[in-house]
Amino acid sequence: MVQSTREAKIAAAPEHDPFVAAQVQFDHAAELLDLDPAMRQFLRVPQRELHMTLPVRMDDGHVEVFTGFRIQHNDARGPNKGGIRFHPQETVNTVKALAMWMTWKCAVVDIPLGGGKGGVICSPKAMSATELERLSRIYVREVWRIIGPHADVPAPDVYTTPQIMAWMMDEYCKLSGTSDFGVITGKPLEIGGSLGRGTATAQGGWYTVREAAQALGLPLKDASVAVQGFGNAGSYAALIGQEQFGCKILAVSDSSGGIINENGLDINEVLKHKRETGSVTGFRYSEPISNEALLELNVDVLWPAALENVITGENAGRIKAKIVAEAANGPTAPEADEVLHGNDVHVIPDILCNAGGVIVSYFEMVQNYSRDQWTEEDVARRLNRKMTESYHAVLDIAKARSIDMRTAAYVVAIQRVAAAVGLRGWV
Ligand code: NAD
Repeated sequence: MVQSTREAKIAAAPEHDPFVAAQVQFDHAAELLDLDPAMRQFLRVPQRELHMTLPVRMDDGHVEVFTGFRIQHNDARGPNKGGIRFHPQETVNTVKALAMWMTWKCAVVDIPLGGGKGGVICSPKAMSATELERLSRIYVREVWRIIGPHADVPAPDVYTTPQIMAWMMDEYCKLSGTSDFGVITGKPLEIGGSLGRGTATAQGGWYTVREAAQALGLPLKDASVAVQGFGNAGSYAALIGQEQFGCKILAVSDSSGGIINENGLDINEVLKHKRETGSVTGFRYSEPISNEALLELNVDVLWPAALENVITGENAGRIKAKIVAEAANGPTAPEADEVLHGNDVHVIPDILCNAGGVIVSYFEMVQNYSRDQWTEEDVARRLNRKMTESYHAVLDIAKARSIDMRTAAYVVAIQRVAAAVGLRGWV
């Protein structure tokens, strides 16, 4: 019954749509939980959506009109929380999926926040700093009435930076007449950012990989690793793997392509090369490899750390990694999950694996509320504890119910959100 519903929905989706994928994942767990029909209807869609039209004067004097979104999926457990993406292929359904995943992510690691996400369809790489500043400020002028430290707290995501967060926070404070720095996280340290936020997603992910490796009896020293995507999440995943866990990073990639060295890449040197040239490709001590081939390498740990829908029904059978650590949001299509599970690939699902980012964002909010600054060690210790406890809570459910790790993570998250919705008397 569960299986056939999931398959029917996948078949009905005209092409990959992240929101359909998010709803298929949700429905699958909701059926297992026998969730009340009204609760299910309420939780499978966002509570609120704002669509914005954003005219921006470009440096050459002409006005370009952009489209932006802010989606609030569910705030039963606390203020909505989630990043803002600037991306040329952004769609409202991607943002809706990401907002929904944020609700489950905050719930699975048990932080008192809900799920939101924002996005603007634009090409930030082709825009100047002044154009990006004007776009960031007008985005906040449109959205500021529905965000705030007690309502909805944005953060950086793909192609948005601490500088962009600083402009957005400044605009919000000017409009609201406050110094509510906690309205946005991922800010520069000088204006209320948290130590450890930059590395949090990768660091948190590695804590779950460490626990998974231990559960599987896989030593991490000299374990082979491949990382797709070399941005905030991916580059730190590679660096932390090398420096903290003694892994051999065989391959990394970005939007221009990938590089491989069977003896291991020196990630500090790759970072230097990327800073100088803008890409990992062309690194001296490496051979080129395509993004597709990188995913199929025979490695111990594979990190999809770029965009969604890269492990699909088509290539899932060729994934040879023992552990897939989903730093990216939605990298695995629902039809691929069954194949990976059947092949004993241990998937640490996105809503758990990459939750380190939102956990340290939450720490940043707490520091902002209390006008405090925690040390890097304090942040790392608290992050380690949250990720380790959350990983084992999910693993226990997966074992007890004989289900895959993603479904187990959904079971934990949905139960917590549904309990809050019920207690508040909404459904
Ligand atoms: P980023 O903008 O810093 O980096 C994105 C990287 O992906 C870049 O290296 C880019 O070149 C690469 N890339 C883009 N298209 C690609 C393609 N088709 N093939 C291969 N590489 C490609 O973004 P980020 O913050 O590192 O986010 C990456 C993923 O991690 C996203 O799915 C994001 O939602 C997720 N994530 C990030 C955080 C965070 O704190 N940064 C937290 C949770 C989840």
